[in-house]
Amino acid sequence: MNPEERVVYLTFDDGPQPDTTPVILDILREEAVPASFFMVGANVARYPELYEQILKEGHSVGSHTYNHVSGFKLSLSAYMDEVKRGHAILQTQEHKLFRPPYGRMTLREKNTLLKQGYTIVLWDVLTHDWDKEYYADKILNIVKRYTRNGSIINCHDSLKAKAQTVPALRPMIQWLKSEGYAFGKL
Ligand SMILES: [Zn+2]
Repeated sequence: MNPEERVVYLTFDDGPQPDTTPVILDILREEAVPASFFMVGANVARYPELYEQILKEGHSVGSHTYNHVSGFKLSLSAYMDEVKRGHAILQTQEHKLFRPPYGRMTLREKNTLLKQGYTIVLWDVLTHDWDKEYYADKILNIVKRYTRNGSIINCHDSLKAKAQTVPALRPMIQWLKSEGYAFGKL
């Protein structure tokens, strides 16, 4: 990433699901900014219409495994099966974007993913939006403090995050715009 380029990347993990994802999509559409969704395959299977909507609205998509599994709890082959299954349901072969649940995996898993052409996407700004203590102002302060050119901002479109993410999202986007950031797609 070019450090001169004033771009940030909004990302949402753990969806899609019907309580939170549509509200987030509404805000992104109204603010005319793209985002990237790292989805749990089982949720895509359950809510294919939400998945289609995310694509139709021009966001990028990546896998977050099929069942939101931790790499430290599975063998290498079981983990890779989860990754492949999570990716297969997305039917996007051109970019194999992958974000490991919990942001962690073993070194062997990481090396295997890279060898198989996956792009591993982590983040540098963690909003903690799944935590009820992180109300909108607190999230906004994190974004203000840690965002730099090229930052990848981690949010969630899960049910657990809804009460924090939804009120924080529009002020966050508007602050980023006021600071001159453009919004990129991974
Ligand atoms: Zn997750």
